[in-house]
Amino acid sequence: MRVLLLGGTTEGRELTASLASTGIDLVESVAGRTAEARTGGADRIAGFGGVEGLAAYLRANNVDAVVDATHPFAATMTTHASRACTVTGTPLVRLSRPSWAKRGDAGGWTWVPDHRAAAAAVAEVGASERRRVLLTVGRQPLDAYRALPLVLARVAEVPDGWLERSGWELRLQRGPFDLESELTMLRTERISALVSKDSGGHAAASKLDAAARLGVPVFMVARPAPPRGIDEVASTAAVVEWLEALRPARTRPTA
Ligand code: NAP
Repeated sequence: MRVLLLGGTTEGRELTASLASTGIDLVESVAGRTAEARTGGADRIAGFGGVEGLAAYLRANNVDAVVDATHPFAATMTTHASRACTVTGTPLVRLSRPSWAKRGDAGGWTWVPDHRAAAAAVAEVGASERRRVLLTVGRQPLDAYRALPLVLARVAEVPDGWLERSGWELRLQRGPFDLESELTMLRTERISALVSKDSGGHAAASKLDAAARLGVPVFMVARPAPPRGIDEVASTAAVVEWLEALRPARTRPTA
């Protein structure tokens, strides 16, 4: 059985490892936006050329199933996968790591629909004080926050075309981060507001625990809604089960 895995995430790498000995012919695809993605050993490093390009790829390569393990905010790829699988009749499962919305402290956060709204909400609350804001939203949306005067932006890689900004510091760091280091960072950098997107999962959650401990206000960008009718699971183990259920008995390895 040939499976296309749309990756670029921790879960994508975990799935590649889990499926290595199953006999499934797995093709891992990444967009290749970061150096890490480009050097991570994926089988394909490029886009497909929209819905039509992906549909043509699925047909030309006799793909039996698609696993969408892209990031919860990679909404374009998820929409394209859903449409291409519909037109080609290819089974699709989306691996979506659990949202942070169910955390006990999530009700105390300011939830916003997008990055522009997040920037506006932080600016409004902090109008009377000079807040230093920690941005943990990745590289791509930083421009939406350019009106904020005091920013520490934590990113894995320098954004394309980045220009120094007065009052802004870019900190190149790649997670996961533990609670102690997050507490130290919030204290020593005098952070008075944290902006995050609802990436979910455990690897990036320590900053939220630290913010809760120190009473730092959190501004959370909600996830884009997934396409309707998509088959979603929450763990790599559930993806493996989904694939096993799909796999014809004749292609399963004998014990
Ligand atoms: P996006 O906006 O949803 O996708 C933009 C385009 O990138 C897609 O239309 C597709 O190009 C190409 N693409 C995306 N994922 C791909 C994949 N796995 N394989 C081949 N092509 C892919 O995605 P994004 O937010 O820019 O993220 C790009 C990649 O980085 C994703 O794979 C995602 O898992 C990973 N990532 C994203 C975030 C985030 O916060 N957005 C965080 C961590 C990792 P075509 O239309 O040409 O096919």
